[in-house]
Amino acid sequence: MRILVTGGAGFLGSHLCEVLVKADHEVLCLDNFFTGSKRNIYHLLDFKNFEILRHDIINPIDVEVDQIFNLACPASPIFYQFNPVRTIQANVLGVTNMLELAKRTKARILQASTSEVYGDPQIHPQREDYWGYVNPIGVRSCYDEGKRVAESLMMDYYRQNKVDIKIVRIFNTYGPRMAVNDGRVVSNFIVQALKGEDITVYGNGDQTRSFCYISDMILGLISMMNLEDFIGPVNLGNPSEFTILRLAEKVIKLTKSKSRINFKSLPSDDPSRRQPDITLAKSRLAWVPRIEIDEGLERTIEYFKRII
Ligand code: NAD
Ligand code: UDP
Repeated sequence: MRILVTGGAGFLGSHLCEVLVKADHEVLCLDNFFTGSKRNIYHLLDFKNFEILRHDIINPIDVEVDQIFNLACPASPIFYQFNPVRTIQANVLGVTNMLELAKRTKARILQASTSEVYGDPQIHPQREDYWGYVNPIGVRSCYDEGKRVAESLMMDYYRQNKVDIKIVRIFNTYGPRMAVNDGRVVSNFIVQALKGEDITVYGNGDQTRSFCYISDMILGLISMMNLEDFIGPVNLGNPSEFTILRLAEKVIKLTKSKSRINFKSLPSDDPSRRQPDITLAKSRLAWVPRIEIDEGLERTIEYFKRII
């Protein structure tokens, strides 16, 4: 199949491209290299079935494809808040452009949505039928509301134009190829611990997240793309939930670091709890995450040891 991966040079996108290339698909990796890096995909350049296209999805594009994984959007709060208007545009103009392409080529399109559509959730764990609790005017809104509009657009193209869509709500995912300066918690803590710098815990660290290892996530995305008669939305994530303070302690222990914890102020609208209910993914995709946090952290630590 001819598969377009937008955001293909990013963290998730580069792993996805790798699996698709090795499965012998024709893979077109599209990226504007805002947060992605050529280094993430260098090793794929020798494959004849892999191509790179520098392009911003805010602008229309016309290529022949059978499937589109739409991942193009900065995912780290630091980067999506750097130019919030561009973040909204990627999710409104960019998603519209990808849907128009899917409509013309009759390609199936999968949208990388996010647990952020639930905002600071008032029900726990989060199920797909929960509508969320989102601040529409805060600093995270460009991403949260952008991704919510993206889901609306997907549904409207499905209802109005019969576009073949899939919506996946991705919960916090981590692993090798996160950028050193990405700013998200797992990469920050590992880099700080390896460099012997203070570990920056925002707030008192009692907010929770549930972390999924990259290889589990990629299998879930591909299973969803290839499943018939189910458009989602479906949660994908690892339900094992713990506090950010506990994550900091784990990273210090696994890296045998002498770093100390430095508590910093909590960014505004930082969700206090987050855990996916993955009942739907289990029953429809027969998907469950397999990699436990300690193993995933060890693999990620090995990666950062090599590159910093
Ligand atoms: P990332 O920042 O590593 O990757 C995003 C990629 O998209 C980068 O390569 C970037 O250069 C590219 N990009 C950004 N805007 C673009 C544009 N307008 N046109 C073309 N390319 C553009 O982030 P990631 O963690 O790999 O996330 C990938 C997708 O998954 C994002 O849509 C994100 O919202 C979603 N997601 C990720 C997580 C996670 O925990 N990793 C959680 C929820 C949702
Ligand atoms: N966080 C932290 N220190 C950091 C980076 C993040 O304590 O150096 C916290 C952040 O406040 C949030 C959690 O870790 O509560 C997850 O943050 P991340 O940016 O990784 O993802 P998101 O908030 O989008 O889930």
